Amino acid sequence: MEGVAALLRWYVEQGVDETIGEQPIDRFAAPPPSAIAAAAPAASPAALRAPTPLRTAPPLPTRAPVPIESPQLVEDARALAARCSTLAELEAAIRGFEGCALKRTAKNTVFADGKPDAPVMVVGEAPGADEDRLGKPFVGVSGQLMDRMMSAIGLTRDGGFYITNILFWRPPGNRTPTSTEQGMCLAFTQRHIELARPKVLVLAGGVAVKAVLDTTEGITRLRGKWTSYRLGDGTEIPTMPTFHPAYLLRTPASKRQSWQDLLAIDRRLKELT
Ligand code: URA
Repeated sequence: MEGVAALLRWYVEQGVDETIGEQPIDRFAAPPPSAIAAAAPAASPAALRAPTPLRTAPPLPTRAPVPIESPQLVEDARALAARCSTLAELEAAIRGFEGCALKRTAKNTVFADGKPDAPVMVVGEAPGADEDRLGKPFVGVSGQLMDRMMSAIGLTRDGGFYITNILFWRPPGNRTPTSTEQGMCLAFTQRHIELARPKVLVLAGGVAVKAVLDTTEGITRLRGKWTSYRLGDGTEIPTMPTFHPAYLLRTPASKRQSWQDLLAIDRRLKELT
């Protein structure tokens, strides 16, 4: 018994904070992943974690596997995303994508929630434990605060706002994603914004702001100031960087500033409609 307790303690010290399966998987025995091969409809069913009923984008040609941190994987994600011409195709492509290591430790792919044709699209950071368990973005305490904030300006997930994250899989133990992991997911997120074409884009928190706007400027400087996100066809989407609800839960005094941001979003939407 003491041995089991010591083993558990050791796991916790190594950062293992939850179990994800009954059987151990020997990752070293498995062949290296090939993002393209697995994402293509021709991939063997065993390569996919769950069958997807969604229509898939046209396949990319298969090629030899590449290392897990190869920039080639970001290119693969970009090429795959570019081939998706609908949100359903994009969702299927992300669910079938095997190039991102985060997927292997996540329970679920967390794509989006709300109605894709909503006027506002919110992009957050990454699924946490609750989102990973339920397969939906912003369903934990931060998500509940996000819902309350948006409903204060009359927006709900039932047609008012559509919500997603920069990352589609929870990083194990909420670790920082590698630049390759982030690059792969960002390629899909950029296409996600392109296909959803919201009237207004809201970037929640510094991580989403830095990634989507490709800036090193901090959220404290950028929040509350309108900027724009340019789509491939040149269309500019009015974009509002704002604090992440998790930050607001830790720093309630900043809610005042977030309220100003929400009012600005509300005004902008009224101007646009
Ligand atoms: N925080 C995020 O950025 N996204 C979620 O989905 C949940 C918490």
